[in-house]
Amino acid sequence: MKLVLLGPPGAGKGTQAVLLAEHFGGPHISTGDILRRHVAEKTDLGKKAEKYIREGKLVPDDLVIEMVRTRLRQKDARKGFILDGFPRNREQATALDGMTKVDAALLLFLDPEDLIKRSTGRRVCENCEAVYHLLTNPPKKPGFCDRCHSKLIVREDDREETVRRRIEVYEEQTKPLVSYYKTKGLLVQVYGSGIIDEIFERVIEALSQRKR
Ligand code: ADP
Ligand code: ADP
Ligand code: ZN
Repeated sequence: MKLVLLGPPGAGKGTQAVLLAEHFGGPHISTGDILRRHVAEKTDLGKKAEKYIREGKLVPDDLVIEMVRTRLRQKDARKGFILDGFPRNREQATALDGMTKVDAALLLFLDPEDLIKRSTGRRVCENCEAVYHLLTNPPKKPGFCDRCHSKLIVREDDREETVRRRIEVYEEQTKPLVSYYKTKGLLVQVYGSGIIDEIFERVIEALSQRKR
């Protein structure tokens, strides 16, 4: 399954992507995670990307497109992948079309006020890519990752102001991709409210209906 995840920040893309990757057996490729790793490791790309991420803006297309091209060339992505956070505008979508043919685009949607609550309560592991929520998806031991026991931190761009900016960027630049994929007959839409496992069931059901 070559799947693209669409949806505003905080909709639950990353959370569902982990489950989908397990289910379908391909890698979970999150451009946000890859970029944050570059920033942490102070690579050339990380140094260029940092200010855009901090301000809640999109990192320039040329940088992100090459990053994804390189990642999709790796062997583990040949048969399938869950692409989370890319494409985010028309340029990126066109570039992706030139790299591979996706099977479906899954849109997770949620009400704006819920998006803010999701993002401002998000806690991420400083070591692995695990994601938690202070209230709705807490770790077993407060403040520490279930998977690797490292400390949980707040993403710098999850401050409310920046979250609002990111939602605006989504509305302006990424939302048009919904009709882009609809026109291609690839769009699957799922409401992202409810318990994580229930949403996952809805997603699997919606994807299987598409194939029938
Ligand atoms: P969320 O799903 O909460 O919006 P991400 O982890 O996907 O967050 O993205 C965090 C930030 O990383 C974005 O605000 C943006 O600055 C950068 N980013 C991630 N993916 C892309 C992309 N495809 N194009 C440009 N910038 C990106
Ligand atoms: P995205 O990748 O779309 O930005 P995430 O998967 O990181 O979204 O989820 C945003 C926040 O909401 C995280 O703190 C996550 O633990 C939490 N979350 C994800 N799905 C749900 C859900 N169904 N109900 C409650 N909280 C959720
Ligand atoms: Zn961890």
